[in-house]
Amino acid sequence: MSQSVCGRFAPTPSGRMHAGNVLCALLAWLSARSQGGRMVLRIEDLDPLRCPPENAALLEDDLHWLGLDWDEGGSAGGPHAPYYQSQCTDFYEAALQKLRNKGLLYPCFCSRAQLHVASAPHLSDGQVIYNGRCRGLTAEQIRRLSQQRPAALRLRVPPETIRFTDGCTGTYAENLAEACGDFLVRRSDGIFAYQLAVVVDDARMEVTEVVRGRDLLASTPRQLYLYRLLGCRPPRYCHIPLLLAPDGRRLSKRDHDLDLGRLRQTLPDARPLIGALAFLCGLQPAPEPVCAQDLLPHFRWSAVRKTSIRIPQAWYQVPPNRWA
Ligand code: GLU
Repeated sequence: MSQSVCGRFAPTPSGRMHAGNVLCALLAWLSARSQGGRMVLRIEDLDPLRCPPENAALLEDDLHWLGLDWDEGGSAGGPHAPYYQSQCTDFYEAALQKLRNKGLLYPCFCSRAQLHVASAPHLSDGQVIYNGRCRGLTAEQIRRLSQQRPAALRLRVPPETIRFTDGCTGTYAENLAEACGDFLVRRSDGIFAYQLAVVVDDARMEVTEVVRGRDLLASTPRQLYLYRLLGCRPPRYCHIPLLLAPDGRRLSKRDHDLDLGRLRQTLPDARPLIGALAFLCGLQPAPEPVCAQDLLPHFRWSAVRKTSIRIPQAWYQVPPNRWA
């Protein structure tokens, strides 16, 4: 096993995995394992209200059913424990302290309504360009506002373009100040922001390869900036195409779109689903049932499609063992 390559599953247990999450887990596993690398399972349960504890156990069971194994993490633990983000707050706090020492953090008292005024309507995914309203508050203003409401914490960003080469999509560049502005590292309810937590954990767990959905591509420059500030080496990134419903909408856990709770009731095993996903993303010429292991010898990123994948209408309505 190559000790130098390490991939990860980093699911948010806000619901059951859907077919898009399965595709992501499959490609992360194929990429790491095809290089002889190890796999880590980290449960991204930062927001306890969205992530009931029983979901993490279901996730592990689903990964076993899919034939996707891991070497450390989840309930099995391992040398980089804890693997549940809800238990990692000391690490996030230590990272915040480093950023604070550099003078890069400031409290933000903006309400949601104020942020909406500052947001750009053309941006997707609720992304907001922060207008720096709280950037220059005086100590006295901070003291007064702190008595009225809890503050979030923001990180100052430079007007700098951050560029990287994605293993699936190619080159991507973004100017942090123009694309997002100073971004949140801790929310006003005390919950650490995804951007900070994911960087701290991937660095701590020595992850060298991050495979995730294209919807997170625009987060990567922020994360690369954090790696630099925290003095850690960033992983290689592969942002994979999104799997879409026949009408073009993104699959959603909340709507139980092609989720494993439903699919597992109709399928004898995972092979029809893995085979269909491998076909849809370009890894096989036909949707023949296969197990993940069978795909390993021929796996290469150059074969993986780069654009979003719509699930055909006829497939959406029937279980995957009738997709072929
Ligand atoms: N936890 C995120 C999700 O389940 C993935 C985050 C990441 O891969 O960086 O969508």
